[in-house]
Parts: sequence; C-alpha cells; structure tokens
Amino acid sequence: MQRIADLIGAEADRADQVALTHGNELEKSGAVQLVRFSPPLVTAEVADGAACVEFRIVDGTLRWSCTCLEGRSGTFCAHCVATAQSVRVRADRKASPEAPPAPESTFPIAS
Ligand SMILES: [Zn+2]
Repeated sequence: MQRIADLIGAEADRADQVALTHGNELEKSGAVQLVRFSPPLVTAEVADGAACVEFRIVDGTLRWSCTCLEGRSGTFCAHCVATAQSVRVRADRKASPEAPPAPESTFPIAS
C-alpha cells in the first residue's frame, strides 16, 4: 500500500508547476473522490470536468491515465496531482479504525 503511494508522490513531485498548483487547489476543495484504493490500482474521480484518474503499477513502473485532454496525451495533469495529494493524505493516515498504529522502532526499517 505504501509503495504505490510513494511512486505516485514521486511522480507528482516532478509534475508541471501549473498542474501542481491547480491540483493542490482541487484536492483542498474536496474535488477528489477516491473510488478504488487497492494497490496496484488506484482510481479516482475529480470534480473538474468529471475527470477520471487511474494509477496502476505495471512491471514495477507507475502508469497513469486521466480522461481529460492533457491526461489522454500522457501528461501528469492537475487531476493526477489532485489524486496524488489525496493518496498521500490517505497513506499518511494509514491506520484504519480497527488497526491501531504499529509501535515504532520495533523493526529495523529497510530502505
Ligand atoms: Zn486530467
């Protein structure tokens, strides 16, 4: 679960500045609806022209798509950025209600 979030985050860090700014605004305004969060597949709907974003791990590589014009040409568009932010928030919050966070420093962390 952490891995796809990391890959998406790394890709978002390389996104175009305009897409980043717009994407962050979309995420903050609550426009992102994560539809599916089951790695290796993450899909979301973004209430900005009803864009549908999909992230998928293929052969260890992150692939993304969006139904908007930019996304269809392979650009990491604002909707991808917005979804990436949403995934990041979700991954940071990773503890689910029934599973309390694991104690830290119990296991050595392999990098
Ligand atoms: Zn898009």
